[in-house]
Amino acid sequence: MIEIRNLRKRFGTIEVLKGIDLAIHRSEVLCVIGPSGSGKSTLLRSIAFLEAYDEGSVTFEDRLIGYREENGRRRRAGEREINADRSGFGMVFQHFHLWPHMSVMENVTEALRVVKALGRAEAEQIGREMLDKVGIAAHAAKYPEQLSGGQKQRVAIARALAMKPRVMLFDEPTSALDPELVGEVLAVMKQLAQEGMTMMVVTHEMGFAAHVADTVVFMDQGRIVEKGDPGATFADPKSNRLKQFLNTWR
Ligand code: ADP
Ligand code: MG
Repeated sequence: MIEIRNLRKRFGTIEVLKGIDLAIHRSEVLCVIGPSGSGKSTLLRSIAFLEAYDEGSVTFEDRLIGYREENGRRRRAGEREINADRSGFGMVFQHFHLWPHMSVMENVTEALRVVKALGRAEAEQIGREMLDKVGIAAHAAKYPEQLSGGQKQRVAIARALAMKPRVMLFDEPTSALDPELVGEVLAVMKQLAQEGMTMMVVTHEMGFAAHVADTVVFMDQGRIVEKGDPGATFADPKSNRLKQFLNTWR
């Protein structure tokens, strides 16, 4: 579904992604783990072209993301083209990025109304469905500041799902939460996975990676160091770097 080939990204003179090759298949749950600064967020952001990669390619359902190739030359896509390229992705970040001046329902329906030009009734019907899915329907009229962190993150997930994405990209969705609120967010993500959603999840939740992921990718210093099914990857790491990394979580 997503094919990443020789992906490279520099910030100034520092190469942060040093040639990433990775495929994500339909209904696959892929967890990306690795130390801070290893390039996990940059990889996720490059897939949705929130960062413009420098070399290589990201294709989504066989379409190149963020660039257009004509007569053997590549040009940066225009803003509308890029928006179209990323429309199949739903994104959830560490910090929820809810609009503070909008109710929960307004947060979830805003893009439906503005981007998809749906009327209020139709948008709110989808909104209720999505809030119900993440267990927040009772809080639809509240404002973000009235919610716990776990509830806010579930609203952010509902907001992404409302746009009917074909892939969900999560960047450390539970890292900003108090420990007792992590479980409710992971439970929603697990349910999504069981429903067959294609998901790429950057996470430090090793339990989630072990029990929900089909594939675990370990990144270090801008490269994929190991990749495999979670059972083998956690039980029998090949590299010393992954062994060391896992030891810090045991
Ligand atoms: P991770 O998510 O694994 O912690 P990141 O992808 O955020 O890693 O960052 C990888 C490297 O790229 C880090 O060294 C970070 O400082 C650097 N980096 C990330 N974003 C930027 C940016 N916008 N400008 C400059 N350097 C950046
Ligand atoms: Mg990160």
